[in-house]
Amino acid sequence: MNIHEYQAKQVLKGFGAPVASGVAITSASEAEAAARQLPGPLYVVKSQIHAGGRGKGKFKELGTDAKGGVRLAKSVEEAVAHATEMLGNTLVTAQTGDAGKQVNRLYIEDGADIARELYCSLLVDRSVGRVAFVVSTEGGMDIEAVAHDTPEKIITVAIDPAAGVTDADVAKISDAYGLDGAAREDAKSLFPALYKAFTDKDMALLEVNPLIVMTDGHLRVLDAKVSFDGNALFRHDDMKALRDETEEDAKEIEASAWDLAYVALDGNIGCMVNGAGLAMATMDIIKLYGKEPANFCDVGGGASKEKVAAAFKIITADPAVQGILVNIFGGIMRCDVIAEGVVAAVKEVGLKVPLVVRLEGTNVDLGKRILNESGLAITAADDLDDAAQKIVAAVK
Ligand code: GDP
Ligand code: MG
Repeated sequence: MNIHEYQAKQVLKGFGAPVASGVAITSASEAEAAARQLPGPLYVVKSQIHAGGRGKGKFKELGTDAKGGVRLAKSVEEAVAHATEMLGNTLVTAQTGDAGKQVNRLYIEDGADIARELYCSLLVDRSVGRVAFVVSTEGGMDIEAVAHDTPEKIITVAIDPAAGVTDADVAKISDAYGLDGAAREDAKSLFPALYKAFTDKDMALLEVNPLIVMTDGHLRVLDAKVSFDGNALFRHDDMKALRDETEEDAKEIEASAWDLAYVALDGNIGCMVNGAGLAMATMDIIKLYGKEPANFCDVGGGASKEKVAAAFKIITADPAVQGILVNIFGGIMRCDVIAEGVVAAVKEVGLKVPLVVRLEGTNVDLGKRILNESGLAITAADDLDDAAQKIVAAVK
């Protein structure tokens, strides 16, 4: 689960990280009062969407000459003018895709005088089985290019979970950044605070880009991106409350209500599979035969008929889906339950695209009989290879 920048900063502030004061607004009429609460004379008006690259992004409605999704203002009036122009428009960034994201919320922040822009993130480094800081002196808006062109400028510092962030870790990170004076002092509390926030709240990613050294020598978290480990959210009701469903794919929200492992993708073949490994293999083989999957969907082990029907409805509701492949290897999952779920869903919402079904395993004969006797136009397949070829041919 991702949250907005202004929420992430609130969370980090709770752990003692230095952030600017700011006010989130959802209508232009609130902009003036928001800016007047801040000290000035520099204000920053920041689009709140679940995507990065906002500074270099462009608003669809405003043309290429207009400013981007993060704007500096030197007066309250200018901040209000930016807010009025930005709200409600669609911001396209390197991370949003061509469709962009509608900006429904702005964060008006006290502007900082920046001396240096650094990059800092925390993530779970699976290669060492530890949470690691990833740091670079090349912070700002082009970290992807740095990673690609000059990977030696990115340094990883893995943290021993038993010891936490030690003085030696802080020194290593500070040296990598070349920090001195006030910034080096600030680092002693900032990096342990970021680590504590990450581990206490079960984050999957905490990215501060940029972390800045201000002209007064102090550090500040200027941008913050946080995503949480979805499997640990059950123990963080406070973080769960920060969820903004308007930023998420409607199909994924419906799927999570049914506890389905579902991820929307860009292709045309809808998939309903049991088991993550089989789902991955199914997606691979669809690609092998020249088409792209429209989704990853694992209905899991002991799914009910209702859950299977819900999954089928979510898949068919996607207008991009031109064909559906149901690929079930019934171990714990029973083939007859899958068949009943598919039939129930089709009876309710109809079937406008080709459907190929491959069933194998527990109660396979009963499952096939339910499908055959349903009168639905279903193409049966013998195995995974056969199934993939049949659905690709049907869609082409
Ligand atoms: P992103 O483009 O989505 O990553 O948004 P950021 O929050 O990182 O802002 C983009 C850029 O705007 C930063 O890298 C800064 O160069 C600039 N910026 C943001 N806030 C301030 C500020 O308070 N003062 C100044 N001078 N520049 C800022
Ligand atoms: Mg940024």
